[in-house]
Amino acid sequence: MIALSDYARVVVFTGAGMSAESGVPTYRGRGGIWQQYDYEDYACESAFRRHPQRVLDFHELRREQVLGCEPHAGHAHLASLQRTHPSLSIVTQNIDGMHQRAGGAVAAELHGSLWRLRCAQHGVVEDAAAGRFVRRDCTQCGRPLRPDITWFGDMIDEAVFAQARALIEMCSLFVCIGTSAVVWPAAGLIPFDVRQRPHLVEINPEPTDGSARFDRVLRASASALPELLVP
Ligand code: NAD
Repeated sequence: MIALSDYARVVVFTGAGMSAESGVPTYRGRGGIWQQYDYEDYACESAFRRHPQRVLDFHELRREQVLGCEPHAGHAHLASLQRTHPSLSIVTQNIDGMHQRAGGAVAAELHGSLWRLRCAQHGVVEDAAAGRFVRRDCTQCGRPLRPDITWFGDMIDEAVFAQARALIEMCSLFVCIGTSAVVWPAAGLIPFDVRQRPHLVEINPEPTDGSARFDRVLRASASALPELLVP
């Protein structure tokens, strides 16, 4: 068990495992989305240029899947901890918006969000939360707006990355939940090799490549967070 009151600033860093118990499908591994779909046809800028509607339809399916899932006790617990411990920041690799649906505030969505659209050229971002993922064009250039997520071959939004890094540099406790930490550059945010190293905790039912480098490893599921992190 970890008492947040022992730490001035906390960053919780989440990955796909955070939402696994909600039923949000993973992308990699057995049964993952990339076994069924070729990302080159559905999740990269060139696929969108070739077939915008096909790519939008694919993402609409992802949105429908996520809407059929509910945040679990772990998401709700993080949101409630943020109320008692306002310096707890959530940095997520997830694009599903589950933290927010549970009432949590997310400081950085490193890989964007299924619930927004943007223009690749003008950076204009539109909220696509309501309604279907219908094709909409940029008012400046007339090109179709793409999902505001980091596809294969995309750069991470620099401002979002910088915001995450700044929070991590200041934290005294860093809790990594449900990520294999193999997707870069997000994985490089785990502050293993910094001068003022925060206390590093991993929460994951399975070992990861980085497990040995954490100060504490809790082999547990994200839904068990109410028993693992206390105010
Ligand atoms: P990953 O699939 O590479 O690793 C998932 C990790 O979660 C594994 O280490 C696994 O052991 C762990 N895990 C499984 N069940 C868990 C549970 N109940 N509680 C805690 N941990 C559990 O995921 P990743 O490291 O986040 O990398 C995948 C990338 O794909 C991410 O960067 C993300 O952008 C994207 N993605 C997002 C979603 C989503 O938004 N929900 C889903 C799939 C993939």
